[in-house]
Amino acid sequence: AIDYKALDKRLDEMKTNIQNRKVDADADKVMALYHAFCSYTTEAGNMRQRRNENAAKMKSAGKMGPEERGALIEEGKQIKADLAALEHKLAEIELSMETEAMRIPNFTHPDVPVGEEANATLVFMQGEQRAFGFEVRDHVRLGEALDLFDFDNASRVTGPKFYYLRNAGALLEFALINYALSRVLKHKFTPMTTPDLAHEAVVAGCGFNPRGESSQVYTLNGSDLCLVGTAEIPLGGYYSDQLLDAAQLPIRMAAVSHCFRQEAGSAGLATRGLYRVHQFTKVEMFVLCHPDDSDRMHDELLEIEKGLFSDLGLHYKVLDMPTEDLGNPAYRKFDIEAWMPGRGSYGEISSASNCTDYQARRLNIKYRHAQGDNRYVHTLNGTACAVPRMIVAILENFQTNDGKIIVPEVLRPFMGGMEIIE
Ligand code: AMP
Repeated sequence: AIDYKALDKRLDEMKTNIQNRKVDADADKVMALYHAFCSYTTEAGNMRQRRNENAAKMKSAGKMGPEERGALIEEGKQIKADLAALEHKLAEIELSMETEAMRIPNFTHPDVPVGEEANATLVFMQGEQRAFGFEVRDHVRLGEALDLFDFDNASRVTGPKFYYLRNAGALLEFALINYALSRVLKHKFTPMTTPDLAHEAVVAGCGFNPRGESSQVYTLNGSDLCLVGTAEIPLGGYYSDQLLDAAQLPIRMAAVSHCFRQEAGSAGLATRGLYRVHQFTKVEMFVLCHPDDSDRMHDELLEIEKGLFSDLGLHYKVLDMPTEDLGNPAYRKFDIEAWMPGRGSYGEISSASNCTDYQARRLNIKYRHAQGDNRYVHTLNGTACAVPRMIVAILENFQTNDGKIIVPEVLRPFMGGMEIIE
């Protein structure tokens, strides 16, 4: 799952990185297991050689005296038993090493700020907070008055944090998807739809924890299938165990999918209305590229996102997210937070991560670098449109003093020309 040699060379850097990210991983333990694994592997190799030598000698056993032959047979038995014990031990060590290694995070881009969320670096700001001249309403009040969504019936059907969209609310979802997709497709992305379920191995390969207490992943009883939290999972899995041609790279894919999240541990966070829900629709961009190209592709994803949100007329900030916010897979992550006047705060609407070879190693996605030298690709992902957060931002920013919503111009062609929701 990881490059053990690289970890060995950069052990101190990784230990600091683990501290900076505040993740639960033990690089020393991984290295101790790796060194044990290497020495046992050498020992097993030597033993196999002795076994072969013993077998070669056995060929001329007929010419030996009984004592010599007996000793040779004894030696052969002993080597066989020792080798079996050693191979058993080796398999155990390998399993522990791989299990521990799964917890090791990606390395971190040198420009990433260290520390908690508040330490994020502001890299760009679009527009400014609109002055309203009247008392602003939040999206729940606006949407309920306009019959754009329904939480009560959803609560009965599915439970809290689910919703129905209705009327122009439902049309807004379709318009946002079509707007985002049509824009993204101008940048050489292949449009895709994806399965809403994926095997646990794919979920874990993308760096998500499919089981356990703090897992955000819904699992199915009696199956190893999980509901995906993002299209990043089926898109990441799409090329798993494949060897690509360098000429195929970069591969850009864009998918519309449902996202399912348990949102464990989110109690107490600002979660009113559509802001933090268990199921939502998202347009996701996913890229596989040459390792030398991933920083540039990261910038490309960010530029696409900025264009999408600027043209909707949103005021937002772009943040270079600090180490404690990166989780395990991301080498660097840019979040976009839009101003949400009803909530009176900025809220995350989008996130773009460069995962370098973290996911590719776990999903086993390589490209042909040179004869006999296949290397791991780099993977990136970015949100083009997380529908509910966009609806929050649009309702709250474009409300009128009498509680109507002015539809952003770029969405009108996708809403049958609708200019105002009333
Ligand atoms: P992530 O895949 O976690 O980076 O999330 C992508 C985007 O989806 C975030 O930037 C949010 O805009 C949105 N999002 C994440 N979680 C939720 C949720 N529980 N409910 C609604 N939107 C969400």
